[in-house]
Amino acid sequence: MKEKGNNKHSERNLYIVLGILLLISLIVLAVVLTNSKKTDNEIAYSDLMYKIMQEKSVEKIDMTVGSTTIKVKLKNEEEEKKAIIPSTQAFVELIQEQAKEGNYVELKQEPASTWVTLPSKLFSLLPTILLIILFVVILKMQGLGDKSKTYDAESQKTGTTFKDVAGLEEEKNELIEIVNFLKEPKKFHEMGAKIPKGILLYGKPGTGKTLIAKAIAGEAGVPFISMSGSEFIEMFAGLGASRVRKLFEKAKKVAPCIVFIDEIDAIGSRRTGGSGAESENNQTLNQLLVEMDGFETNETIIVLAATNRPEMLDKALLRPGRFDRQVTIAAPDAKGREEILKIHSADKKLGPDIDLKEIAKDTAGFTGAELANILNEAAIIATINNHEEINMNDLEEAIKKVTVGLQKQSRVISQKDKKLTAYHEAGHAVVSRFLPTQDNVKEISIIPRGLAGGYTMYKTNEDKYYISKTEMEEKIVALLGGRAAEKIALDDISTGASNDIEVATEVAKDMVKKYGMSDKIGPINLETKEQYELQTFGNNIEDIIGVEVKTIIDKAYSRAQSLIINNMDKLHAVAEALLENETISEEKFEEIFRNV
Ligand code: ADP
Ligand code: ZN
Repeated sequence: MKEKGNNKHSERNLYIVLGILLLISLIVLAVVLTNSKKTDNEIAYSDLMYKIMQEKSVEKIDMTVGSTTIKVKLKNEEEEKKAIIPSTQAFVELIQEQAKEGNYVELKQEPASTWVTLPSKLFSLLPTILLIILFVVILKMQGLGDKSKTYDAESQKTGTTFKDVAGLEEEKNELIEIVNFLKEPKKFHEMGAKIPKGILLYGKPGTGKTLIAKAIAGEAGVPFISMSGSEFIEMFAGLGASRVRKLFEKAKKVAPCIVFIDEIDAIGSRRTGGSGAESENNQTLNQLLVEMDGFETNETIIVLAATNRPEMLDKALLRPGRFDRQVTIAAPDAKGREEILKIHSADKKLGPDIDLKEIAKDTAGFTGAELANILNEAAIIATINNHEEINMNDLEEAIKKVTVGLQKQSRVISQKDKKLTAYHEAGHAVVSRFLPTQDNVKEISIIPRGLAGGYTMYKTNEDKYYISKTEMEEKIVALLGGRAAEKIALDDISTGASNDIEVATEVAKDMVKKYGMSDKIGPINLETKEQYELQTFGNNIEDIIGVEVKTIIDKAYSRAQSLIINNMDKLHAVAEALLENETISEEKFEEIFRNV
C-alpha cells in the first residue's frame, strides 16, 4: 500500500504560499516605485535642466558620489527637492560648463557613505532579487510536482505499530529484534552483535509486507523511507541509479531509519547483458548493491524489501551483507483472518448477525488487503441499501463482489450464451462432487461477474499447508469439467473455458517442474532454470516436460469426460435449475443429487 506522504503535500503547499506572497510583494513594490516618482518633492530631469539653464532658479545641488539621486535647493523655496539624473559624470560636467558661462550653481559632492548607498543600492536591486527568488521557487515547485509523480522517497514517522498488524505472530517475533536494535543500536554494537542490513519479505501482494515494515519503524520510533522498485525504472539512462543514490543519501541523513523498497523484483531481477531498458535496470541494481555494501552496520539503516517473485531476484542481492535474511509473509490462516477482520471492522457499524469467525472460515486464501477491502465494500453496500448497520447479506455480497468482480446486472445475455454457461458451470459442480479432494460446492451461478460469464463457488473450510499430488490432479479434473460438459452436452466448445485451461496448465506445469511429481523427470526443480541450465538435464528435457504436462492434462480431461457421461441426468438437472433460477445454493444442488 502506498500512502504518498502528507509531508510532501504540506511542503508543496508551503512553496505555493511562498510563491503567492512573493508575487504580492512584487506587485506592491512596483506600485510603490511608480507612485513614489510622482511625489511633489521630486523634480523631473527635464524640469531640472530647464530650472538650471533657462530659469536659473537652482541655488545648490547636493550629490553623493556614485548616486544618481541628487538633492536640489531652489532659490525661491525652503525645502530641498530630489531629482534623478541619468549620469553623475555628465551632470557634473554640465554644471561646470554652466559655471564657466557665469551661470553658477553651488555643487556639493559628498563621498559615498556606505550606510546610505548600500541599502539604497540593495533597494534598487530588490525587484531583481525577488524575481530570482520567485524563479527558484517556481522551479522548485515544478521539481516537486515531478517528484511526486516519479521520485518519491518519502520519509515519515509512521505511527503504525505491531498492534495494527493482525496475525503474523511468528513474523513479528522474528522482526522484533530489528526494532530493539533500532531503539538501542549501541547496546548491540558493544556486544559485537551483527545486525542484518537487509531483510527480504516474501509474499503475495496484500499480505501486509508494507504494513509490517511500517510497524517496525513505528515501534522503533524511527523514520520510514519508502520507494517502489517500479519507480526506479526510468526511460532516461542513469536516472534509476541516481534515485537509488539519493534514497540512501536521505537515509544516511535521518538514520537510524527503515528504508523500504517495494516490488524489488522490478530492479533486482537477474542481470542480463542486454541493452536499453535492461542495461538501465542493471545500472540501478548495481547502484543498489554499491549502496548496500557502502554503509556500515553501525549506520543503523535497515533496508527492508518486498517481493512476490523471489525466484526472479538476482542472486547477488542475497549475498551476505545484503539481503541475507528472508522472512516469508504468508496469507493469513483462519485465526489470522478473524483478527484482521476485527481490526478492520473496528471503525464500522456491524449488525448483531455478523459473525466474523464464520466469515474468516469462508475466506480461506484471502489476503489481509482483500479482507480489508471486503469490509469496506460491505459498508458501501449497506449504505446504498439504506441499512442502519452492515448485515450478513451485505457482507456476503461484498465477498462475492471482491472474489468474482462486480455483478453485471445490466448486461443482456443471449439465451444461447446462458445455456452454454449453465452447462459449463454445472459441469464444474457435477465433476467436483465426485472428486474426494475437492471442496464442496457453495453456490453456482450464471450471472456474469467481472470477466466470468458465471461462477462456481466452493466452500473452503480448512487451510491447507500442503497439497498432495492427487489433489492437484483432481483440481485439474474439476477445472476441465466445464469444458467437458460443453462438449458432451452441447457438442460444441466455447472460449468460456479459457481461464480454466490456463489455470489447469499452470497446475500441471508446477507438478512437473516445481514439485517433482512426474516419474519421468523425478524430484528435480526445473522451474527457475535458464535455457542452458535446463540442457544439463539432457538435450530433450524440454520435450519431456511438454509430454509430461500433456499427459497430466489428457488424463484429467478424460476423467472429467467420463464423470460427465456417467452423470448426464444430473448435469441436465443442474443446468436446467440454473437456467431457471440463475443462481443455486449448496442445498438446492444437494437436493438435485438426492432426487435425480
Ligand atoms: P503488501 O505490502 O504485502 O502488498 P500491504 O501491507 O500494502 O500489503 O497491505 C495492504 C493493506 O491490507 C494494509 O494497509 C492493511 O489495511 C491490510 N492488511 C494486510 N495485512 C494485514 C494484517 N496482517 N493485519 C491488518 N491489516 C492488514
Ligand atoms: Zn469454468
